[in-house]
Amino acid sequence: MKKCTIILCLLLCWIADASASSDITTMKISDDTYVMSAVDYGTNIGVISTEKGVVVIDPMPGKALLPALAKQINDLTQSQVRFVLNTHNHEDHTGGNEFFIGEGAQQFNSPDAIAEIDSLLVNSHTPKDQVFFLHRENVVFTGDVFDTSWHPTFYSGGLKGFDDAIDRILALGDEQTLIVPGHGKPADKAALRKFRKDTHDWVARVKVLHQQGLSISEMQQHPDIQSILQRFNVEQRAEFIPERAFQRFLERTVTLIETDKGA
Ligand SMILES: [Zn+2]
Repeated sequence: MKKCTIILCLLLCWIADASASSDITTMKISDDTYVMSAVDYGTNIGVISTEKGVVVIDPMPGKALLPALAKQINDLTQSQVRFVLNTHNHEDHTGGNEFFIGEGAQQFNSPDAIAEIDSLLVNSHTPKDQVFFLHRENVVFTGDVFDTSWHPTFYSGGLKGFDDAIDRILALGDEQTLIVPGHGKPADKAALRKFRKDTHDWVARVKVLHQQGLSISEMQQHPDIQSILQRFNVEQRAEFIPERAFQRFLERTVTLIETDKGA
């Protein structure tokens, strides 16, 4: 009986561990750099081995997967996480900070002390968006200034802050630079330029329809609005975003236009 219980426990533990680790995907950029992601939130997590130790950017695969994430990072780098950095202060990016701090890591507000990582401070998704540039690997972590799995969310800086952020990101590296968004598949500068154009088209169209007196629900039914929204559906998902999110995106865009941030 006892033996059975132990075997059952081992089996259950193994299943739990196997499913947990398979829920985290790993993309190898170089021997020192990885991008990891999990189903919960789909946040892109950067893992970088530096001279000073392993740095993790936005370590949030969902609370339940934090131990599995730590184990996978240890396996990949043969080392524990030493430093935690965040692109911005939202739970889907910072939710794993405490866990890694509990494991002995230190949280840095900026990567100044780490030679391999440069940073920019911009105001687009939040008033303090931090963009990280790994110059040796030619990789940029944009945080939610850029997203390949969702519509743009430039609610803090409006179109002006968004443009400034995109310009500064485009000025980093060269045409081969890998652009890692806050969520969704890593992309390139061409995809980022397209994202900017689509965002401008979105705001311009919403502005005209709003001035014509269309309500939010009328705009939701409008073919132009629906087709511009679909341009952000990079992965061509059958159901891109929930109706409620679509409505909120329109509402927030109208608010930006009215407060002149969308102009
Ligand atoms: Zn996010």
